[in-house]
Amino acid sequence: MNRKEFLLTTGTLAAGYSLLGLRSHGSAKPPTPYDFIKLEQSSLEYGFDGLEPYISAEIMHLHYQKHAAGYLKKLKSYLADNPDLGTNLNAIIQGPLKAPMLKNNLGGHFNHEIFWRSLSPNANQEIPKKLLSQIEADFGSVDQMAEAFASAASKVFGSGWAWLCVDPKTKKLEVLTSANQNNPLMQGEEKYAYPIIGIDVWEHAYYLQYQNRRTEYISNFQKILNWDFAAKNYSNLKLWKR
Ligand code: MN
Repeated sequence: MNRKEFLLTTGTLAAGYSLLGLRSHGSAKPPTPYDFIKLEQSSLEYGFDGLEPYISAEIMHLHYQKHAAGYLKKLKSYLADNPDLGTNLNAIIQGPLKAPMLKNNLGGHFNHEIFWRSLSPNANQEIPKKLLSQIEADFGSVDQMAEAFASAASKVFGSGWAWLCVDPKTKKLEVLTSANQNNPLMQGEEKYAYPIIGIDVWEHAYYLQYQNRRTEYISNFQKILNWDFAAKNYSNLKLWKR
């Protein structure tokens, strides 16, 4: 995209935001790269038992069909009652989310759509080169990144998420956490950033298999990360010139 096209796109976006009554965080935010996040649950790219022995089929079944489906159902109902918001979830999530029902259920749906893709039945995937060198530049090594991620995830108090994120301004990677079903894209979070991969540390994500052993869950989770998905998000994000 050249500069003129970019300005046209951002101009259209800004108009879209104001039509929707959505304020961005001061300056207009570019769209996120998560064009796969729609007002529906996308089907898993693996079976409920595809992540065993790391995550049990029982957990995946309940997590996908009950917990995540529940967030979507409530989100749909809220958006149906508030048609002025539209259905562009990538835009809505960056706007004001005053109603807890909207914030919690939009976050719940959005985060889980990232979560399913963050996992792969092929354990111990290699990290694609470009992302690997960025990880080494920003964390020192893959091990140090993994340690930072695990440490952040284990320290989330109560329910929440840990994310490997990219700062859209500096393009640097960093680990961030969010409480409840919040997401670093939301206003009012510690820092605005794009998650490229994320771990759910709500008890519903691990308790049936790991009970109180959250660190064991986190360590096993890290063995089944879908680095191709993270790399794809990372390179999509690199396209956004600000
Ligand atoms: Mn969950």
